[in-house]
Amino acid sequence: MQPTLADIHAAANTIRGVADGTPLVPSPFMSDQSGAEFLLKLENMQPIGAFKLRGALNAVAAVAEAAGVTCCSTGNHGRGVAYAARARGIRAVVCMSELVPQAKVDGIRALGAEVQIKGQSQDDALAESRRLFRDEGLVEISPFDDPLVIAGQGTIGLEILAARPDVTTLLVPLSGGGLAAGVALAAKAINPAIRVIGISMDRGAAMHESIKAGHPVEVQELPSLADSLGGGIGLDNRLSFPMCRDLLDQIVLVTEEQIYHAMQVLYYEDRIVAEGACVVGLAAVLAGKITLDGPTATIITGRNLDMPTFTRIVTGQDVTLGDVTVKGKPYDA
Ligand SMILES: *Cc1c(COP(=O)(O)O)cnc(C)c1O
Repeated sequence: MQPTLADIHAAANTIRGVADGTPLVPSPFMSDQSGAEFLLKLENMQPIGAFKLRGALNAVAAVAEAAGVTCCSTGNHGRGVAYAARARGIRAVVCMSELVPQAKVDGIRALGAEVQIKGQSQDDALAESRRLFRDEGLVEISPFDDPLVIAGQGTIGLEILAARPDVTTLLVPLSGGGLAAGVALAAKAINPAIRVIGISMDRGAAMHESIKAGHPVEVQELPSLADSLGGGIGLDNRLSFPMCRDLLDQIVLVTEEQIYHAMQVLYYEDRIVAEGACVVGLAAVLAGKITLDGPTATIITGRNLDMPTFTRIVTGQDVTLGDVTVKGKPYDA
């Protein structure tokens, strides 16, 4: 069942005091460049460094005391589930493949979760979390296709509109679509005229391809500076696909070069260290792909980036991602 505005209000109560109330701050540079007041919702300030704590807290709160939880995200969702489970004192098992870097394994363990290493691919890790569900009764929490996760992420929309009811456009980084679905649901329930635009990188944009095809499709996963936006939406997607299809006004794609430049902008102009996934809204506006018609907010979704890569970007060096090299350039507004 798709969540409703009431579910998002309930989620806001559940996460209160732990994962809510992040700052909404102006970006004078982006306002100047775009001709519209441009606001940043700083989810990079969350205790786990990303907004995914909202959905994870809301989903973990609904799990019975005796049960534990499992997921197979090695990224921000894994961190969120680990943090939320520890806060409730329940067991969390995060499943990963042998290919996941040790630093990520250590990061999740440091948040108190057990780590199960299985096989050579994300599919092997997923099979292990399904087994834990069958054999040990652990509740599996999807990073985006779960009504409680979507409602949790939607609290960002409530907070932005409570602070600034005059916002006319929301720019939302888009991957599996839990964030965009929740934020668009909240925002449009409050102001049906608001425009909500999802933004992805042009290398492997699964939601974009799925909406074009009319059903969830698989895309090839390619390395990107916006690595938190990679991955599929699930061929059996039940919620985030139809919600994004029905609620988003538009999806815009940006290139690696545009993401690179926008990361420099956010660092040099706003002094914010954030993942490539966060800056796609800035990148789309700076590239002239979106025209703004009033106060605009984007979500700075997380700060959990690879620091050596970030250092290369702010110093204008080339960055090699798998088989492509993003050409470096010293920052120049
Ligand atoms: C998960 C994530 C996103 C995208 O959220 P979806 O709900 O998968 O669309 C964006 N930015 C960061 C930093 C994330 O961790």
